[in-house]
Order: sequence, then C-alpha cells, then structure tokens
Amino acid sequence: MDRNQELFDRARRIIPGGVNSPVRAFRAVGGTPRFVQRAQGPFFWDAEGRRYIDYIGSWGPMILGHGHPAVVEAVQQAVQDGFSFGAPTEREIELAEAIATVMPGLEMVRLVSSGTEAAMSAIRLARGATGRSKLVKFEGCYHGHADSLLVKAGSGLATFGNPTSAGVPAEVVQHTLVLEYNNLAQLEEAFALHGPDIACLMIEPIAGNMNFVRAGTDFMRRCRELCTQHGALLVFDEVMTGFRVGLGGAQAHYAQQIPGFRPDLTVLGKVIGGGMPLAAFGGPRAVMEQLAPLGPVYQAGTLSGNPVATACGLATLREIGKPGFYESLAAKTRGLVEQLAGAARQAGVPFSADSEGGMFGFFLLPQLPRNYAEVMKTDGARFNRLFHGLLERGVYIAPALYEAGFVSAAHGEAEIAETVAAAQAVFAAL
Ligand SMILES: *Cc1c(COP(=O)(O)O)cnc(C)c1O
Repeated sequence: MDRNQELFDRARRIIPGGVNSPVRAFRAVGGTPRFVQRAQGPFFWDAEGRRYIDYIGSWGPMILGHGHPAVVEAVQQAVQDGFSFGAPTEREIELAEAIATVMPGLEMVRLVSSGTEAAMSAIRLARGATGRSKLVKFEGCYHGHADSLLVKAGSGLATFGNPTSAGVPAEVVQHTLVLEYNNLAQLEEAFALHGPDIACLMIEPIAGNMNFVRAGTDFMRRCRELCTQHGALLVFDEVMTGFRVGLGGAQAHYAQQIPGFRPDLTVLGKVIGGGMPLAAFGGPRAVMEQLAPLGPVYQAGTLSGNPVATACGLATLREIGKPGFYESLAAKTRGLVEQLAGAARQAGVPFSADSEGGMFGFFLLPQLPRNYAEVMKTDGARFNRLFHGLLERGVYIAPALYEAGFVSAAHGEAEIAETVAAAQAVFAAL
C-alpha cells in the first residue's frame, strides 16, 4: 500500500481527521494527504519519496525556500544556547526593532507564538484601549480561530453575527459585525448604525484566505476615514501579507496610493518566524502601552519570543532585507501566473490571476473576484481535477480553491517551467 495512505490511516486512529489543522486533510479536494518526509529549497518529498514543487511553503513562512543555509545555521546556534528561558533575551529586542524599521506604524511590538494569538490579542487591546466592544470583520477574511472571529453575517446590519463553529456561544459573537469585502455601501451603513460602539475594524488588506482578493484603494481609504472619524482602530491582519508581498507589507502598497495611510494596529505571523512558531502585533506607543505589565489589558505567553524562533525569524528577515530580493521574487511570481494564464487561454479554460511579491492567486473564473461570494462561484469539481492533475505531476498547490499560493526565492526557472508544463497538460484535459 502507498506509504502516505498507511500513515494517514494510522494518523486517523489517534489524531482527529488524521491532521493537526483541518485543511491538511484534503477534505475539499478528496484523496490522500501527502505526509512530508523532508524538504529542501523549492521541493518537499512525501512518504513514498516522491518529489513535489512546493507552492504552499508552510502556508507562507518559507519565503527563502526550505533549509536556507543561513537560517539553518542561526537556528543551530540558537539551539546550542538553550531552547526556552521564560525570561527576556536580546534577540526579542532585535526582532521587534527589525520589524519597526520596515513598518513605521509599529512604534512598539509584542511577540507571541501564532497568528491566532496575535489577532486575538490585538482585538482585546483595541477593545481595552477604546473602551468599546464591537468589532467589524469581513466575510472570507481569516484572522485565526479566536472564538469571537468564528462568525458569519447575521440577517442585516442591525444584527450581529452567528457562530460558524460549534462550541462558540452566540453571546461571544454578538459583538462581531460581518460585512461583505469591498462593499462600500455596507461599510458606510455599518458605521452609521454602530460607529460609536466600534472598537476596531479588522481586515486582510489582500485577502489570502479568499485565495487572492485585494481590498480596493477607495474601499481602503474609506475604512481608514471611517475608523478615524468614529474613533475606532483600523487593524491590518498582515499575518500572510507581512514580509510576503513586499518588505513593508501590504500597508506600504496602500501608503503609496493613499497619502499618509497607516493602519493603527498590525498583526504579523508566518514569514516573521521563518517557519518557527512566532507572530507579533504592534502599533502606536500610546495604544501598545495599554498592555500588561504597563496597562490594564492582559496578555502573556510561556513561549512568547522563543529564542530559537526569534533566531529563525531574524535570519530570515536579514535575507529578505537584501537589495533586490522582492523585485526578483515579484518578477518570478508574476511570470508564473502570466504563463499559467497563457496555458489556460490556449486550452480555453476560464482563468484569472493576480500576484504581489511572492504571493499569488488564480481562479477558474473569467474575472478576478472582489468578495467571498464571487470567489465561491469557482467550479469546485474542476478545481479539484486541476489540483489532482498537478499533484500527480509533482506540483503541490493548496488543496482548496480559497487558498493563496506562495513562491520562494529558491524557486528557479526550471521549477517554474516544470510547473507551467504540468499545468498545460492538465488544462488540456479539463
Ligand atoms: C494564517 C493566518 C492567521 C492565523 O495564524 P496561525 O499562526 O495559523 O494561528 C491569521 N490571519 C491571517 C491573515 C492568516 O493568514
């Protein structure tokens, strides 16, 4: 029997669904998840020893590719000096300073261990700092699995959300308002109805959990204006886009289009840990000083700022800070999606695609979608055939149509060409 299948069967006896995070189970696309044995550069090898070109990269963190020598060396050195102390270290300061240097909105930074924790803490801070309870989020944006964020829209904007997970009491999401992404009219109405009660508006500026959907410039400008006008905090969830779409994150792109633009709080994760459990949130000094031990908003973590994770993150940030890094990554990624689009056009398959830095998305739709409902118009069965066709040819993309893709610095011309050739073959049979 296939060794991946053997491991999956064994995993399912002891781990719910056989996985420690649901999307890994291939439920959306069917088939047997690949159990990874090892990875190097742009590749990983499964339990059968089969090689795949990896376009997930641990869902974003592996921007340098797997096993970058400078990162491996930094981690090995850190391990020699100890795994965890529960006391402060110099590398935590270095990492916080490195983040603040490229994201000027983060006057102060707190390190945590996962994006979920960072988003949850940022919301608590926003509520504590404003003395308000309400929270605005958008359908299709993912901010981790804190209870108050597992919510879908209620009926109309006067009512708040309904839980999307069992185990979340309705009372816990009664302060969360869910709006349609890029819908200006709903945004205006929400602030008109609830403005004085809104603690924060949280948004993925490029929504990677809808594959790849950009918030329009006018929409983002209005988010900023309404938050300022009503005293709510604008929270950018850049867990995926931070250090991925460019050195300054998505906020740097909006700052180019909207003079003076800056979010209040920023949530980071994924790339800043370079593949280790590390995340962060930060913002203006006056807000961040509301956090314990200075202020009344409690927040803590046994492994926060872990010395091995900070070594890994710092080594990664050093590499991506080198001149030309993003220009080269962006050009390569753009080249990939353009060639995929060309292959789809030749085969007469409806296709649209977008990319920024080393992040990309494509849809089996004639036009780029602007919100979750439009994303979900994708022909799911067709996407699944595409996914499995690529997988059989050694190309590993996200096993769900609403997830973004990631290119690393280790992906070379040969891997891109191999990917495009595989896609040509699969498109022809779609
Ligand atoms: C991945 C992700 C999270 C959650 O981070 P975890 O480390 O998985 O908890 C939050 N927000 C966004 C935008 C993400 O992509």
